Amino acid sequence: MTTTTISEKDKMTLAREMLGKLVDRRVLAALEVCVRCGICTESCHYYRSNPKTEHTPYYRAEQVRRVYRQFMDPVGRAFPRWFGAKPTADETLSKLAETAFATCTLCHRCTFECPFGVETAEIMRVMRSVATATGYGPEMLIEIAGAAIAKEENADLFRDIFLDQVKELEKEVQDALGSSKARIPVEQKGARLLYVPLAGAHTIVPQAIIFNAAKESWTLSMFDTANYAVFLGDAARSKRIAQRIIKEAETLKVKEMIITECGHGYTAMRWEVPKWFGKPLSFGLRNIIEVLDEYIRDGVIHVNPTTNGEPVTYHDSCNLGRKGGLLEEPRRVIRAVVGDFREMTPNRLHSYCCGAGSGLVATPEWTDIRLEAGKLKAEQIRQTGARIVVTSCDNCRHQCGELSEHYNLGTTVTSISELTAKALV
Ligand code: SF4
Ligand code: SF4
Repeated sequence: MTTTTISEKDKMTLAREMLGKLVDRRVLAALEVCVRCGICTESCHYYRSNPKTEHTPYYRAEQVRRVYRQFMDPVGRAFPRWFGAKPTADETLSKLAETAFATCTLCHRCTFECPFGVETAEIMRVMRSVATATGYGPEMLIEIAGAAIAKEENADLFRDIFLDQVKELEKEVQDALGSSKARIPVEQKGARLLYVPLAGAHTIVPQAIIFNAAKESWTLSMFDTANYAVFLGDAARSKRIAQRIIKEAETLKVKEMIITECGHGYTAMRWEVPKWFGKPLSFGLRNIIEVLDEYIRDGVIHVNPTTNGEPVTYHDSCNLGRKGGLLEEPRRVIRAVVGDFREMTPNRLHSYCCGAGSGLVATPEWTDIRLEAGKLKAEQIRQTGARIVVTSCDNCRHQCGELSEHYNLGTTVTSISELTAKALV
């Protein structure tokens, strides 16, 4: 957690102002409607991994509802102790931050089970904003978000290093395709697609192999799609980070932006950006999985599923699947490129979170909570008998890798792009 030098009184005032601004009708409904029926209990991976009352969605939501009443309800303001108020603002806000950041991955699964559609994740999202604004956001998330902004501010300095790195990766692509003509184009004006990767060759090389095999008109983004300010509930910084790639797409006049296999990066661009900027994007937007699905369907690339012969299971990222609507596209691609595909149960809309969502994977102070919350996912993976877990989100990828070690699953993790590049014929 970061701490700021603002006084206790000012923190409380700021928290109150933030709540006044951010609690709209949707969040207010989530705060007011819950009847504590408990139907959502089994829907949360925290509870399923360790069944305790403290791990139920309504218990956790109740903790932040009490804080909300302390700040905003006239009775709560007059008698804060009736609502369990802590003695100091520091204790109140620290606890609020821990609840909002560490005990809910904003997976939205409980909302699907709730007869009233209570959006616990929306309450938590607002509370994350309050915690961040008052200086209680997790340090690592703040640093990563800050680095993304600094990269744009110093784009000229970083360009040469980036271009050198791309040249190295281009050699890998040429070797894989056996062609010295294979390219990783950067800053290509008028290309059809702008492909936005993450930091890491595994989100550039396989995709570059596929784009070259498809003879696609494309260009690689100078930036990456990760937007950790979204996890902080920091709207101003979220906009700045998203603006980097929007500006790039507009400058290069591409027809479409293609987001790599990144859950939050994709949903932020698809659902949040139009709201943040008050207008739709001026170019098309798809995830790389949709492109792969199209290439295979239209015979633009040819694949051989026997190349990936080991049993494979797919973990639906909450962002890409439940929130992003990409449920069948990944499965069509996997079936085309894998010989032995085994579904986890449940899956698709009802898939459980891996335990690392919404930035939890990047907050070392909560590693134990994260690994415990991933126990259910580990058991699901084990039951499939798969040797390879494929997932379309780097946070899930990291978590599934750690779960394999922690729960002794003996599995490796990969992406749909990597499996597809390997299956190319
Ligand atoms: S969130 Fe919905 S399902 Fe859960 S306790 Fe409240 S009303 Fe019941
Ligand atoms: S949104 Fe997900 S993590 Fe949060 S309480 Fe609901 S089921 Fe649990």
